[in-house]
Order: sequence, then C-alpha cells, then structure tokens
Amino acid sequence: MKIILASNNSGKIAEMRSIFADMGIDADLLGQREAGCDFEVEETGETFEQNAYLKAKAVAEYTGEIAVADDSGLCVDALGGAPGVHSARYTGSHDDSDEARYRLLLKNLQNETERGAAFVSAVCCVMPSGEAIYTRGECRGTILRAPRGGNGFGYDPVFQPEGFERTMAELESDEKNAISHRGRAVRAFAVKFKEYLQQKD
Ligand code: IMP
Repeated sequence: MKIILASNNSGKIAEMRSIFADMGIDADLLGQREAGCDFEVEETGETFEQNAYLKAKAVAEYTGEIAVADDSGLCVDALGGAPGVHSARYTGSHDDSDEARYRLLLKNLQNETERGAAFVSAVCCVMPSGEAIYTRGECRGTILRAPRGGNGFGYDPVFQPEGFERTMAELESDEKNAISHRGRAVRAFAVKFKEYLQQKD
C-alpha cells in the first residue's frame, strides 16, 4: 500500500513517518515531492480541517493514491487564537524563517502576562474514491519570553508544553511525538484508518 504525505514541510513529514511506523501502519510513505507533486496547494480554508482537506484532496486527485495531510498551527489565547491557520505565514510570507515568525510572536506578546496557547493539528485522509477521514489533536502549553532548544521546527523553541520544564525544541523527537498535537491526531487517524481497511476486507 502506498500513502502520500501531502506536505512539503520536511519537519512534518519526518514526524508523520515516525508516528505511522510506531502505529504499525505498514505502507510506503512518500512525501508530496517524492510522489511527483511539484505544487503548493493554496490554503484558502478558514479552519484547520478545511485546509487539511484541500491539501489531501489535491494530492489524492493528482496521484490517484491515498493522501494524508496535516494542517496545523499555534493558537494563542491572548491573541484570540492567532496566528492559528495563518501560523506558517504569520510574518506575511511563507519564505520568512521560523525564527522570524517566533520573534514576531514574542514581540506581539511582550506586554502580555497571560501566555497560554495550544498547538492544533487536523489530519485529513482522502481516498482515491474521494472518501475522507478526519481527526484532530491538541497540545496545550505556554509561550516563553525567549527561545530555547534546537530540535523540532516552527514555534517549538518558544512553546513549553504543560507538565514540562523544557520547550518543545528541547524534547527528543519521540518525547515530542508522544504529547504533540500531531502525534495525537496521527495516532487517532491510524486507529480510524485500520478500522476503515478492516471494513473494506
Ligand atoms: P501548515 O500546516 O503547513 O499551514 O503550517 C503550519 C505551521 O504551524 C508551521 O509552518 C509552523 O509554523 C506551525 N507549526 C505546526 N506544527 C508545529 C509544531 O509541531 N511545532 C512548531 N510549529 C508548528
């Protein structure tokens, strides 16, 4: 069985590969580019679920294979849930660095004492038949005042998950996957996907 991971974000693809393997999903997992999809899907949805669907659907239609997408982001309480679905382009451009994005977030929160936030991930799988499976995962934590750690990607250096004294970027990858929004969403997806395959048999 072949599954295309509908993303060009290498950090996300690595995490999804590792979580799928832990869940015993025995499939050939190809990144979007490896599968020959040389395009970026425009994320015009207003929710994580809508954007995950747009990405998975485009790749499933193009390749004729099962496609799985994650749409994720950081929702900060004091900013009314921003940057949310706009997390990847918080500075206005996709081409800016992760560091530029988290520096802007720290600047926008510099006078804020309420620093609660949640990482959110919506996973959508689209079958060649057009059927879709959705799951969601969240991870709550706090936005620190300065970055720490070199692992992970995105806003990880400034996010300290609940119950930890380390930032997400100071966790090993298996520690992050055990508690992260994406870990939760992908594991929930793996359970639903196995049920789907059994029903098809
Ligand atoms: P998208 O799902 O491709 O729209 O991008 C989500 C964006 O949210 C990423 O580019 C990161 O900036 C941020 N993000 C999502 N998941 C994580 C994570 O696990 N750690 C840190 N940042 C994340």
